[in-house]
Amino acid sequence: MQNELNVAKFGGTSVANYQVIKNCADIVINNPNTKVMVVSAAAGITNHLVLLANTALTSEQISDVIENIRKIEFAILNELKNPSEVEDKLFALLSELESYARHEEINYRDDLKDSLMSMGERMSSLLCAAILREKGAKAINFDVRKVLRTDSKFTQASPDISNIRVLAQQLLQPEINEQIVVTQGFVGADEQGRTTTLGRGGSDFTAALLAEALEAKTCEIWTDVIGVYTTDPRITDKARPLPELSFEEAAEMATFGAKVLHPATMEPALRQNILVFVGSSKEPEKGGTWIKRDCESEPAFRAITRRKDQVLVTVKTPKMMYAQGFLERVFKIIAKHELSVDLVTTSEIAVSFTLDNPPNSMSEKMNKEILVELSNICDVNVERDFDVVTVVGNNMHSAAGVSSRIFAAIGDFNLRMICFGANVHNLSFVVSNHQSEDIVRVLHKALFE
Ligand code: ADP
Ligand code: ASP
Ligand code: MG
Repeated sequence: MQNELNVAKFGGTSVANYQVIKNCADIVINNPNTKVMVVSAAAGITNHLVLLANTALTSEQISDVIENIRKIEFAILNELKNPSEVEDKLFALLSELESYARHEEINYRDDLKDSLMSMGERMSSLLCAAILREKGAKAINFDVRKVLRTDSKFTQASPDISNIRVLAQQLLQPEINEQIVVTQGFVGADEQGRTTTLGRGGSDFTAALLAEALEAKTCEIWTDVIGVYTTDPRITDKARPLPELSFEEAAEMATFGAKVLHPATMEPALRQNILVFVGSSKEPEKGGTWIKRDCESEPAFRAITRRKDQVLVTVKTPKMMYAQGFLERVFKIIAKHELSVDLVTTSEIAVSFTLDNPPNSMSEKMNKEILVELSNICDVNVERDFDVVTVVGNNMHSAAGVSSRIFAAIGDFNLRMICFGANVHNLSFVVSNHQSEDIVRVLHKALFE
């Protein structure tokens, strides 16, 4: 049974300094149903930690990066009314951070990287809880690793949903009966208690997972924009916030590049029918987007997204004798590496598909291995420097005139691949990364302005 509980998540810019954390504390305190506050690392911290984790730095360079981190955290600490209450704990966290950063195997061991990357959220939850207390609320900082059980796939761990539910009911529920619990997004722990992380932007996912485990009614994602927009407001100032979205539309948008939500956020919300709200922590009075099962309207066009850093792989078997079972062999190799393929087109003897390939990422590493394996069974052609632009909407396969409006707008651009029809919510194009912003703007103008 659902209760009235609300889980509120605050992203990096929302907890970047003392002043903005105070806004977040007000948002939490003003809603008596908010008993769980999930926080990201302060803006910039995770990027510093990624640098420490992935780059071979000199001892001096490591000191410089740690000093940058220390400055951000101490700027918050020093504005607290009673800094001594948490000062020792912050020092301890910073020295733990330094021990990972200076570990001789830090650049090679993903388990160490995750311990290091978790430090941003561990520091910000300590400070956010202190700010709630100084505003008169009863609040504790709770170590999410006690409940957020994951597998051991470091840097990209998957949650163990049934164990999270049991642990949250056992260990978190009694705490929220007493006070507000401030906890870390992005971070988890495997069965052996080793620290894991859920992938970049994973704090949204944490909030939804905890909301599911605690059977919450709502989950709020507080960020730097007043909701989910028709497209990324950084691409065009004509983008406008959407009052409502369905779980499916939101999931589609997140998967195809709308960074405002981590792609997995909608899974727990959908399973448990939790209302998800997206709004701005700086301007909470402006409202935001409600994501829900049933929307009042189901427009053919809802939004446009862009996902960057794609490679297009085409595999071909020159020998017809391989044609049967060829697709199976190709996808077995991809599945073995636990990668998901989102866009695929096929012909009789060839298959083209996109792979996520952000520079210096885990996927980039795995893609290289996949390509080697594929080249053992077929001809492989790799084209780089693509983005995927997606129109998200409803009943796109059956609504009249959908494709003519879209192609009339962008027919002059070179569309390397088009995927339409497999999903009623999505029409995607693989396009050159030099043209993707223009394509988004032109499409936005044709469909929304
Ligand atoms: P947080 O740190 O709060 O998690 P993010 O930077 O991860 O915030 O996500 C918010 C950003 O997502 C916005 O500043 C915006 O540029 C980007 N964004 C991309 N697509 C959209 C969209 N369709 N609607 C709103 N924001 C979007
Ligand atoms: N701090 C993590 C990141 O920057 C997780 C998050 O903010 O959601 O990716
Ligand atoms: Mg985010």
